[in-house]
Amino acid sequence: MRIGLFGGTFDPIHWGHLRSAEEVREAFSLDRVIFIPASIPPHKKRQPTTSANERLRMVRLATARNPGFEVSDIEHKRPGKSFSIDTIRYFVQKERGHKIYFILGLDAFRDIDSWKDVQAIFPLCQLIVTSRPGSGDTLSLETIPVAVRSGFCYDPRTKSFRHMNGTHLYFTRITDINISASEIRSRLKRGKSIRYLVPREVEAYTEKQGLYRVQRRGWSQV
Ligand code: ATP
Repeated sequence: MRIGLFGGTFDPIHWGHLRSAEEVREAFSLDRVIFIPASIPPHKKRQPTTSANERLRMVRLATARNPGFEVSDIEHKRPGKSFSIDTIRYFVQKERGHKIYFILGLDAFRDIDSWKDVQAIFPLCQLIVTSRPGSGDTLSLETIPVAVRSGFCYDPRTKSFRHMNGTHLYFTRITDINISASEIRSRLKRGKSIRYLVPREVEAYTEKQGLYRVQRRGWSQV
């Protein structure tokens, strides 16, 4: 089986995330894509506005009707910061014999050299980097972050970057959907509509829980 891992803060999950996962699932013939909401995202400048449980709930609501999508709460169960290397190690062990693909947008990939134990990630799984509006729609050897670049070479046969350990880094162009979670939070804070930016179930959940609208004790806003 081919299994995609799609990590994120998902604060909240939106159509940009969902369409990206669906296009990658199809393009790489993945049997399933597992959404993995971070409990404590180590790389965000600000910590999430909502609790880990609220974000997990929204991801579950948004993905429930796609049989190719699953949700994992592994980063919620693990104490401390949600480092991708720990999550990848967990799935490599759990799904022994299956091929693991780690999915991320180009904006996240550009920061990958600051990730914990990043060099340990490459031998463990295939990487799929997607385009994202505002972050570019190509990836060349020269634009791979300097600290990790030397481990890769371009492989014209597979049109991917081959890592010295034999795994591949694929870049895939997806439909431009210029939506960000920060824009959604900002809209809600200003009392604006988020209809057609997120699935209806997610919109209803944010309404019911009053998410992102008012300053809540213990959580920073937008
Ligand atoms: P924020 O605006 O709060 O920074 P975000 O919209 O970037 O949030 P994240 O949860 O941080 O959402 O993103 C998770 C993953 O999804 C990242 O790899 C990111 O690159 C990717 N992603 C997010 N939005 C899009 C989009 N509109 N198109 C393609 N990829 C996206």
